Amino acid sequence: MLQVSNLHKSYAGNEVLKGVEFEVRKGQVKAVLGPSGSGKSTMLRLMALLEPADGGSIRLRGETIGTTVRNGRTVHLPERALARQRQDIGMVFQRFNLFPHLDACRNVMLGLTSVQRISHREARERAMEMLGRVGLDHRAGHYPSELSGGQQQRVAIARALVLNPDVMLFDEPTSALDPELVGEVLEVMEKLAADGMTMIVVTHEVRFASRVADEVTLFDGGVIVEQAAPEEFFNNPRHERTRKFLSHVH
Ligand code: ADP
Ligand code: MG
Repeated sequence: MLQVSNLHKSYAGNEVLKGVEFEVRKGQVKAVLGPSGSGKSTMLRLMALLEPADGGSIRLRGETIGTTVRNGRTVHLPERALARQRQDIGMVFQRFNLFPHLDACRNVMLGLTSVQRISHREARERAMEMLGRVGLDHRAGHYPSELSGGQQQRVAIARALVLNPDVMLFDEPTSALDPELVGEVLEVMEKLAADGMTMIVVTHEVRFASRVADEVTLFDGGVIVEQAAPEEFFNNPRHERTRKFLSHVH
């Protein structure tokens, strides 16, 4: 479904991604663990085409996205083409990034009406259906400030899902939440995974990773250090760096 090859990214000479290799099969859930500052968010932003890579490629369903090769040179696609490709990749951020002046339903509708040019009536119907999927149809008319953090994050998930993406990227979706609100968001994500969504989840939730993920990855220093099935990863890690990381989070 998604294939990342030799992805590189630097900020002002600071190399953050140093050749990331990554593959996610259709319906697979990949959990990404790793220390703060190691480049996990950068990797997701590049995959979501929110920022251009300096080198390497991202392929979705076999098709290269974000860049194209012209006269033997890799060039970034123009904004219009990026906007179209972005719809296939849903992204959920640590901070929910909802529009404060729009109610939950309008937040979910926005991508449909503004990007996909779908009629208001149909957009509302589909938004309501998605809010139902995250258990929030009864909060459709509430503004973000009237919703708990957990509810806001579920609206953000509905907003990404309504565009019918091929893959969903989650960047520490529960890190900004009060502990008692984490469960409701993880529950929605677990249901999504059970329904067959392809997912990459950057998280510190080790229990979630071991229960829901098909594969767990340790990301450190701008590269992927280890990838394995959860039992392998947590009980029998091959790399010293993984052992060290796990000794801090367990
Ligand atoms: P993580 O999500 O693993 O905590 P990030 O991808 O957020 O890591 O950041 C990795 C490194 O890249 C950090 O050193 C951070 O300061 C740097 N970085 C990230 N985004 C930018 C940016 N837009 N401009 C400059 N430096 C950045
Ligand atoms: Mg991050």
